[in-house]
Amino acid sequence: MGHFETQAIHAGYEPSEHGYAAVPPIYLSAAFDLANPARGDALSAGTADGFAYSRVANPTVSLFEQRIAALEGGSSAVAFASGMGAVSSALLCVAEGGGHIIAPKNLYGASMDALETFFPQFGITTSFVDDINDLAHIGALITPNTRAIFAESVANPSTHVTDVASLAQFAHAHGIPVIIDNTLATPYLYQPIHWGADIVVHSTTKGISGHGNALGGIVVDAGNFDWSSTRFAHLNQTELVVSDEYADEWHSFVSRYGKDAFIARVRIKYLRTFGAVPSPFSSYLQSVGVETLAVRVREQVRTATAIAQYLQTNPHVRNVYYSGLALHSQGKGEQARIVRTQYSRGIGQVLSFEIQGTREQAVRIIEHTQLFAYAPNIGDARSLIVDPARITHREVSAEFRKATGVTDTLLRLSVGLEDVNDLIADLDQAIRAAFDEV
Ligand SMILES: *Cc1c(COP(=O)(O)O)cnc(C)c1O
Repeated sequence: MGHFETQAIHAGYEPSEHGYAAVPPIYLSAAFDLANPARGDALSAGTADGFAYSRVANPTVSLFEQRIAALEGGSSAVAFASGMGAVSSALLCVAEGGGHIIAPKNLYGASMDALETFFPQFGITTSFVDDINDLAHIGALITPNTRAIFAESVANPSTHVTDVASLAQFAHAHGIPVIIDNTLATPYLYQPIHWGADIVVHSTTKGISGHGNALGGIVVDAGNFDWSSTRFAHLNQTELVVSDEYADEWHSFVSRYGKDAFIARVRIKYLRTFGAVPSPFSSYLQSVGVETLAVRVREQVRTATAIAQYLQTNPHVRNVYYSGLALHSQGKGEQARIVRTQYSRGIGQVLSFEIQGTREQAVRIIEHTQLFAYAPNIGDARSLIVDPARITHREVSAEFRKATGVTDTLLRLSVGLEDVNDLIADLDQAIRAAFDEV
């Protein structure tokens, strides 16, 4: 169906099925007419295609799901009301009933809090590694109970990149799936499934939406992983919800859905039971937002690179964290190699920098920026600034903040679509003001 830019506009939508509306309509209907008892019975048994009730599936949401699945190179997807709805559902679905997960310490704050302190309450434990590319360390942590390795393709705010190709090959040799949060990279810059990941999750609130105007999340399944092993007993036990008692046909998720067992359970158990369903209006905004993803992100990567290069020359900046700079330098080392081989389009619009100064001076930079909005979000058309240690990573323990470089003098930027010279001038005057140079 064409290249990325073409799919971003056309995937999942057939105008003739929607009164020939050129732009996809918004279906706010909670329920759908079942037409007749035979069709109602078939829809409820899952043997006919169609919509019955919007907590399980809705045409506007379905378009968005199909579009993102296409852009990620996956076989199917389930959208949620927020990124955390998607992250939590994917992790619980893989590890429910006492499973074990392996993850790095540099996860998004709420994901970190979930795995470190909350999911243990549900019997799910996590082992954390300092570096997700340290396969020897990961190998030593694998147990018969390990259900997944979870990481972010590009971590926030360090922009540390994951070598998904090596990680997936290693995990698959142990019969374990890899789940990648691809929020920062977006599918335009990086497609984890292409490099071997089994499941991709997103906060679609960020780059995919692109305008900071709708919360959302999504789980995308590559459709490749074999869930029939005893490691995934919950997907292999007979359940009424996927069976047909009237016809006396009994199924497990695996016997009914095969390689789609995981994504089927995400929808039938997690979306339907916990009900973190996206509003059709939000899915509509995100379907429109993703139409311009490629052009937005291309421009933002260019601007973010120029800002990172400017910051490297500023005497008050101690460190700049933007792994994408490896595409513009001779830089050596593991991270530079991964960026050049797997992230050749860039790593995204988020970068961070540590000042050579005090927390008070970092605060003054935030106070003096005029174009950068002080907001805990990323991927917006407008540029944003935040102090992660106090805001976005507040729920992360001091130990883990230290391990991942989230210090009191670190500032994170999400680069928007304003003019690059205006943004650099704004940062420059704010840094000078913070250091009493005006
Ligand atoms: C924002 C974010 C989330 C959570 O998404 P919400 O839409 O805010 O629930 C998860 N992972 C990453 C990497 C994020 O940036």
